[in-house]
Amino acid sequence: MRRSRSPLDHPRRPVLARILTAVAVVLAAATVLPGPAGASMNKTRIMERDGQIIIVSQEVGNQSYPLGWVESDTRRRPDAGLELTYAIDRTELPPGISWEDTEAAVEAAVATFNEVQCGRNLRLVRVDTDPDGDLGVAQHLVGLGGNPVTVADITFAGWVPDQFMDAMGMGGSKGLTVPATYAADGSIVWGYDVLDPTIDYSDIDDDRESDLAAMEIYFTISADYVVDDPAGDTLFVIDLESIVLHELGHALGMDHFGRTEIILDENGEFVDVVLNRNSTPMMNSNNYFVNREVAGSDKASFCGRYASWGKGPGGH
Ligand SMILES: [Zn+2]
Repeated sequence: MRRSRSPLDHPRRPVLARILTAVAVVLAAATVLPGPAGASMNKTRIMERDGQIIIVSQEVGNQSYPLGWVESDTRRRPDAGLELTYAIDRTELPPGISWEDTEAAVEAAVATFNEVQCGRNLRLVRVDTDPDGDLGVAQHLVGLGGNPVTVADITFAGWVPDQFMDAMGMGGSKGLTVPATYAADGSIVWGYDVLDPTIDYSDIDDDRESDLAAMEIYFTISADYVVDDPAGDTLFVIDLESIVLHELGHALGMDHFGRTEIILDENGEFVDVVLNRNSTPMMNSNNYFVNREVAGSDKASFCGRYASWGKGPGGH
């Protein structure tokens, strides 16, 4: 029997706690701070040498998740075309940052992706929502606020207490991108394990990827965010636009990749980025510093997904 499911009918399914590790995201700082380690340390090495801290992150292999957006997917919207819509929660802002600055950081990150050219690829288009509405289906499903209704393809669902990351099984994460995918029967599955062979997922474009229904992006409130470079260039504060850009990359189906090597002093201030900083992928998980650009490898990953959009059936 097919394990189709409507999460709205079963709001506290234990599967939610098993949020796909690969889709979960740790951009962070927390991984080298005292206390419980962050969740994605496996490919990151931290060394001490002559009073300096050296962080090496090497991520090879998959640059994409086994799930993806489908062009012109009428299940999302009758006129979806080459667009993905996005919405921004105004009720849960980063601590100490105004709505105006938050909105500006999100819009800047969106514009960065909209400016990547690889044919007639997708466009990210904003939808306005109730300014007082707490957005976030995943939040709602674990009983931590939010809303049961998906308002956009990609929702910046807010800056939330770590209790939410814990409920997702991703305690320690600074950012978390939660997927929702169509099952073969058309129901929507939240927070699944895409490797679970017992679930019959939809793949209407036959690209061997599960079809995305929605993505929700969350950030922790337990971090210091800044909006002005170079204040964000230390291990202990996060540049808002940089982390938004990184998580948006995940929401577009991009996984971690590339290599970074960063040297910090004993106070966590940056001494050097060993590799050419301009070519450091912002999709590397070791993206601690201000990185608001799409590097060559980021673009290659993005275009690998979206260059075929708009070229008709069989375009990929
Ligand atoms: Zn990440």
